[in-house]
Amino acid sequence: MDKNFVKNLRNRFPQISFMDQKGESYLDSASTSLKMDIVIETLKQIYETSVSNVHRGEHHLSLKVTAQYEQARSDVANFIGAEADEIIFTRNTTEGLNFLSESLKSFLKEGDEILITEMEHHSNFLPWKHLASELNLKLQIAPITSEAELDIPAFEKLLSSKTKIVSLTHISNVTGVINPLDKIIPLVRKTSSFIVIDAAQSISCISLDVNKMDCDFLVFSGHKIFSPSGIGVLYGKKSLLEKMPPYQTGGGTIFKVTKTHTEWANSPAKFEAGTPFIEGALALAKVLSFLKAEVNFKEVLNWERNLVRLSEDSLKGIEGICFMGSTNNRSNILSFIIEGIHSSDLAFILAKQKIALRAGHHCCMPLLQKLNLKTGVVRASFSVYNREEDIKALKTGLVKALDILKA
Ligand code: PLP
Repeated sequence: MDKNFVKNLRNRFPQISFMDQKGESYLDSASTSLKMDIVIETLKQIYETSVSNVHRGEHHLSLKVTAQYEQARSDVANFIGAEADEIIFTRNTTEGLNFLSESLKSFLKEGDEILITEMEHHSNFLPWKHLASELNLKLQIAPITSEAELDIPAFEKLLSSKTKIVSLTHISNVTGVINPLDKIIPLVRKTSSFIVIDAAQSISCISLDVNKMDCDFLVFSGHKIFSPSGIGVLYGKKSLLEKMPPYQTGGGTIFKVTKTHTEWANSPAKFEAGTPFIEGALALAKVLSFLKAEVNFKEVLNWERNLVRLSEDSLKGIEGICFMGSTNNRSNILSFIIEGIHSSDLAFILAKQKIALRAGHHCCMPLLQKLNLKTGVVRASFSVYNREEDIKALKTGLVKALDILKA
């Protein structure tokens, strides 16, 4: 990605100029990304001119916003190579995964197995753990290697005719390790299992095409890709969605209901109970359409990976520092510990120096237990608006924090 392109893209994030003026660095995009200017413009335009409900009115405002909402669905579908009716708007990744763990129940029976990995976020662990205990299924957890990558031979050994759901993250939110889905998915396809991809971290830095990936379901959150929080996406193969019962019921989900009988609407209406986050969907679609037209995701990942490499080079001289995960297979995340220092103490002192990053277990307690990390890890995560200046600030901040903590 050339520097001018990044410079222009940086200008599309109003909070960046606000933070630049205050000398602040934002290194927490894996938690939530900053928002693009088009998000603000879209929300402003709707609130000033077009407020109305969708699929619930005959008047001109409702018809207009319904058309915009359905266009947003098509734009989101286009971004990941899906069909519009394969896109269900959710609140976030977590809701998408809870949706699946509930709606896929009808395909499961006692003794079936669900396979996840040791690197899953709690959102891709707890729903399956609870489903397994509720239906008496076996939850298999594929191990990671010493480099915190998925142990693919061990993963393959856990696949069997009993495996009915495989759910895994594309990128670890703790180590930044990228799972090679092009190798993993064909292994799963040898079984009759459904494949669920948690794309919460990859959606903003890897171009995704659900057909090329050959997954059955994919979930992500708008807030991790420069859009509002409260809007998320569940992609599901049409043939499967048609057979699945709704996750929630209520307004908008039926063709016909009587006191004794319910006839569900087709997907996606059947899955979108109640008034959705209309303006969130419209803003997300605007962002994704912009990115699709203007941004090369290979360059995005290169830019972010380069910042991660430069950070590692810059910080590696610090006494006691240890980086998480494989150096050769990191995305936009650099996590580390410093021997003898609690991660929260570091993050607290860095925050005082206007560096925003995250410390702790990052909603991945089983992974931290596996890595024997009792006091959490510090995570710096990079996005298109980050620059080498942020790395300099991080290094200076860290050296100062250690002076304070070791004094
Ligand atoms: N999965 C991964 C890999 C994540 O990193 C996150 C959030 O950080 C989630 C799931 C949950 O996302 P959300 O909180 O937007 O539902």
